[in-house]
Amino acid sequence: MDTLNPTHILIVEDEVKIASVLSDYFLSRHFTVSVLYRGDHVIAFMKQQPPDLILLDLMLPGMDGISLCREIRKTSRIPIIMLTARVEEADILLGLDLGADDYICKPFSPRQVVARAKAVLRRSREDLLSRNIEAGPFSLNTQSREVRIHGVLLKITPNEYGILKALTTAQGRAFSRMELVGMVQGYEFEGYHRTIDTHIKNLRKKIAEHLPDKDFIHSVYGTGYRFSLDTVK
Ligand code: CA
Repeated sequence: MDTLNPTHILIVEDEVKIASVLSDYFLSRHFTVSVLYRGDHVIAFMKQQPPDLILLDLMLPGMDGISLCREIRKTSRIPIIMLTARVEEADILLGLDLGADDYICKPFSPRQVVARAKAVLRRSREDLLSRNIEAGPFSLNTQSREVRIHGVLLKITPNEYGILKALTTAQGRAFSRMELVGMVQGYEFEGYHRTIDTHIKNLRKKIAEHLPDKDFIHSVYGTGYRFSLDTVK
């Protein structure tokens, strides 16, 4: 596990006791944990602090787990594990084809939940590494390392490709300059993080030649950069 950037688990569960048992167990396994007790707070929270995986209870105040899962899937492939109170519920959920990655029935042991979470995370990471990335007008071919905008090849450097790939793989998530350096070069080196600004500037300029009125790469004050299809100018 990456100790500099621990995996962030979002637990959405209105039963305080279950939430705290799960939370404690994940924390003891060196995950970063956030807990929400209401369904209707999840979407806004995800924009602020994007998690790497969501444990989503079915029955929640504000917005139920099914509606939430559907809502999240409109824009995100983030791994979701649904927590259900009964086996029959899990069967029903499977039939609904919500796009959840796994289902766990209560009562469960925290150890079991962590094991399933790790398995789902591993699968989704393998998926991410091998698949091509589609993000609005952008498509990235992860084999040839080519980027196309509306099908037209974008001429970019390997570093610019690495940055764009990192940003589009986790849309909405803010990356620090150091993280981007690490992802592009495979290691972090203090002196290089300012050069990320130069790469980003060049990348924006090249993208603007194809999409002049839009800026998909957002500066995040005090942090670094994030990619979003909600363009700002
Ligand atoms: Ca509940």
